[in-house]
Amino acid sequence: MSFSATVLTLYPDMFPGPLGMSLSGDALARGVWSLAARNIRDHGLGRHRTVDDTPAGGGPGMVIRCDVLAAAIDANIPPDDPRPKLLMSPRGRPLTQSHVRDLAAGPGVVIVCGRFEGVDERVIEARGLREVSIGDYVLSGGEMAAMIVLDACVRLLPGVMGKEASGTEESFESNRLEYPHYTRPREWEGRPIPDVLLSGNHALIERWRQEESERITRERRPDLLER
Ligand code: SAH
Repeated sequence: MSFSATVLTLYPDMFPGPLGMSLSGDALARGVWSLAARNIRDHGLGRHRTVDDTPAGGGPGMVIRCDVLAAAIDANIPPDDPRPKLLMSPRGRPLTQSHVRDLAAGPGVVIVCGRFEGVDERVIEARGLREVSIGDYVLSGGEMAAMIVLDACVRLLPGVMGKEASGTEESFESNRLEYPHYTRPREWEGRPIPDVLLSGNHALIERWRQEESERITRERRPDLLER
């Protein structure tokens, strides 16, 4: 059974977008995963298919209506759908590689993309949406955030990445950032590849990589070492 993604958005034409290219695009074409982008506006109200209204209590911007979003969810997602339902949101749980691994191991994901000031709180509760953030900054909509979640999941699906190993040594896999990479030419603009990498001594290379990984993590992300 392949990984199935349904995205609820006001801009379905943004999909698959970049997900249709390279690793994720090839996997999509091969049926390793599937993607359905559904328009929330199809469930909008009246002749103008209105989806938003002014915030209760006043203030700037517009809020996506709970009845409209719930109708979009109910029309596209059966009640017994086993997939987790995520809402992209700067207030959400920060996305991590271990969260991505859990999602990729499951049947797929439903992702709701917010726009404007966000969505009426009641639909989050009533439909059990799990809020997920991709970082401490504010985007204009959830679509690119959803693409990031999907890209991170899809590359972990069996048969998507070239080498099995390339998933396990990467940044964040053991709360470490990855060691530096080099390839040909052997010397470039006076900069040689570190000797140890050309030594053929695999134990030594492994140790060097571990030390570099620790050094870089200590310098750049000491918070990871404490996890
Ligand atoms: N008023 C909101 C921001 C709304 S941004 C607030 O202050 O929290 C509009 C939409 O973009 C959000 O509903 C969400 O779906 C998406 N979005 C913005 N920043 C995001 C982030 N860091 N992670 C995930 N989604 C984000």
